[in-house]
Amino acid sequence: MKLVFLGTASCYPTAHRAVSCTALKFEDGLVWLFDCGEGSQIQVQKSSIRPSKITKIFITHLHGDHLFGISGLICTLGNQVMDRKDFVLEIYGPQGLRRYVREVLCLSRSPLPFPYRVHELIPMDDQLPRKWGTWGINQEAAGPPHPQELQGRDICAENGVWDVLQDDSVSVQAGRVKHRVPTFGYVITENPRPGKLNVEKLKELGVKPGPLYATIKRGEEITSPSGQVISPVDVIGPPILGRKITILGDTYNSDQMLDIVRNSDVIIHEATLEDAMREKAIENGHSTPSMAAEYALRADARKLILYHFSQRYKSEPTEEGKQEKKEQGEDGIQKLELEDQDDCFGEEKDVSYVSILLAEARSALECSKCSVIIAEDLMEVDVPRRHEGSL
Ligand SMILES: [Zn+2]
Ligand SMILES: [Zn+2]
Repeated sequence: MKLVFLGTASCYPTAHRAVSCTALKFEDGLVWLFDCGEGSQIQVQKSSIRPSKITKIFITHLHGDHLFGISGLICTLGNQVMDRKDFVLEIYGPQGLRRYVREVLCLSRSPLPFPYRVHELIPMDDQLPRKWGTWGINQEAAGPPHPQELQGRDICAENGVWDVLQDDSVSVQAGRVKHRVPTFGYVITENPRPGKLNVEKLKELGVKPGPLYATIKRGEEITSPSGQVISPVDVIGPPILGRKITILGDTYNSDQMLDIVRNSDVIIHEATLEDAMREKAIENGHSTPSMAAEYALRADARKLILYHFSQRYKSEPTEEGKQEKKEQGEDGIQKLELEDQDDCFGEEKDVSYVSILLAEARSALECSKCSVIIAEDLMEVDVPRRHEGSL
């Protein structure tokens, strides 16, 4: 399993950083996307991901920096998957997503060569902001469904957990996190695999490699040539635990889903602003590096990856960049004045670097077993199984 960070900024995309979109690449080559901010399809094209491999999209919440790229991406996929029979694009996200996708595709008269389905996570009452009733989230789309839209599921929480999907190899659960609109975090867990066959022991018992190995691997008893009955527990090791990856949406508090996040191999957590701006971060529904680190510690995570940085934080300039800046006499970065949009903070004059955020998280995680890195656009991170080595 590999994580590919396609967009790591909050608010709006710039020439330097795209907005939220994280890909999970499986060993069989299939790809799931988590959030799909504006321009995500361009990031996909710049990355190692083949668009035709994208089969599912999960949205954490309906803010534009997590959503505005979905319609363009779906249409682009249309050119990629035409030859794939039985393909259905599965989309998961908060209530309101079905209507959003339907209206955008219908009003733009976008044809699709494949069907899609939107499965909605129905928020719990304690997630609803004030005046929720006036937001129109529950309203049906004005027109009929898109010709390619199939009926999706409405997924309700059971004991605060949304069982999003379960297949032969992996399950996805969602939990609620606190932000300014109903927001979800996703926990992807691989199913455990049967333990390793102790071939040495089998040979000692006189059982040579062959069909009997398959029989005992299926959990059935076998009989050795000398007549000894061998049980699976005698020659099969303990089950190999699957990997657990948690991808949280925008949040200033994710405690309500801590139970399902616990023991994650990786937690991908936002860190929109630095610790000195904690109050402002919380006021806007966001976290600082220390908040993310404290959460990773409480969840007993092995690795923390920070993303969703305010545009005030730039990547460290390269030597070439420093030279260029000197010559230009300016930072060359376009500044936009945006007010009252998600995750946008007015004061863009001071340029800081994401290394500040990393240092703050590192110091909060000192003496712990949890490591931390900062995500950069197009960065790829392998997620090995626990017995395959450290992260
Ligand atoms: Zn955001
Ligand atoms: Zn948001």
